[in-house]
Amino acid sequence: MNSVVNLSIAGKSSVGDIAFIDLKAQQKRIRPAIEKRLQNVLDHGRYIAGPEITELEEKLAERTGAATVTACASGTAALIIPLLARGIGPGDAVFAPAFTYNATANAILLVGATPVFVDIDPNTFNMSPADLEHRIAAVRAEGKLQPRAVIPVDLFGSPADYPAISAIAEREGLFMLSDGAQGFGGELDGKEVGALAPATATSFFPGKALGAYGDAGAIFSCNALDKERWASIRWHGTDEARKESVRVGFNGRMDSFQAAVLLEKLAIFDDERAARRRVAAEYDARLSGVAKPQTHIAGAQSGCAYYSLRVANRDQVVAKLKARGVPTAIYYATPLHLMPAFSDYAPASGLPHTEQAAAEIFALPMHPYLTPDQVDYICEAVIEAASGTAS
Ligand SMILES: *Cc1c(COP(=O)(O)O)cnc(C)c1O
Repeated sequence: MNSVVNLSIAGKSSVGDIAFIDLKAQQKRIRPAIEKRLQNVLDHGRYIAGPEITELEEKLAERTGAATVTACASGTAALIIPLLARGIGPGDAVFAPAFTYNATANAILLVGATPVFVDIDPNTFNMSPADLEHRIAAVRAEGKLQPRAVIPVDLFGSPADYPAISAIAEREGLFMLSDGAQGFGGELDGKEVGALAPATATSFFPGKALGAYGDAGAIFSCNALDKERWASIRWHGTDEARKESVRVGFNGRMDSFQAAVLLEKLAIFDDERAARRRVAAEYDARLSGVAKPQTHIAGAQSGCAYYSLRVANRDQVVAKLKARGVPTAIYYATPLHLMPAFSDYAPASGLPHTEQAAAEIFALPMHPYLTPDQVDYICEAVIEAASGTAS
């Protein structure tokens, strides 16, 4: 599957239709509040840079502990803006995993830099700090590219190894930009994703843990000084009066309607996150005997945007689940270094852990509105399918 997430997959089962992600149940819960917010935007008419943008930025900063938040057009814009602001471009190496969505690599290439793919840890499915060190050393030894930045990804909502990667970034003089597009809601030692790296990009694509009704994203900073430059880049690189271009920028803004929707969804986010975590805990407890669920680094709690696990006979398991009305998805069947757009950057010896994970991974339904009966049904179906006893 190529889209970020397919919002319409669902299966029929004896416990009712199981949605892979259920945005309808969520909308039902908060629809009057969302309608009121949207009506406000229609009334004030500030479709761009309305008061909802500032309100959302303030609430996101308050919630995550980030020094500033810059709302923007998408997760992709949220990755590109900080790279542009740092002057990262041609001749620069940017280290990133290949086991991620294509936007991570697109952002690097769109600013003119070169992606250097790093293998994953087979248990957390996130960037391996040991392999990162190895790849930085190799780039330095080759002497063609200047190591400038590292982009770890919080895959499926599980915080990347921030402590180890920050230490490497500091020692090597690299800018650390976290791709937290799936990471919003993740925590490490009680701190929220957004406050764990100098810069964190997130996406509010509808299927993410916190999703808009269209495209949107945000950049979190631990340094109050970043916002001025980021806000300029998202508005065509203009000065504060928006008269002259003082740097190169583009239209990277979030619109007021999306901020209006996000404000109401943010209000129920903690409750939804708790519900997601209950589902994940049940999956973990019941499925670790037949499959390998994603594990998290010490002190981390996933935001549980998605729930993925590994089995050796993945394709058969997925087919059996489909027959029983359990929808699944595969993130990611093809790692980026094996895709035509990025194959020029494939490491000579491949990325063994990444390739193995891509062959074994699949995702189960994950959303806050799964009923206990549905979770039970899904667990039983996975146990049967993975142990080869399904009828
Ligand atoms: C979704 C996603 C993005 C891109 O976000 P958009 O809002 O679709 O631009 C980037 N990185 C990762 C890891 C993602 O999952």
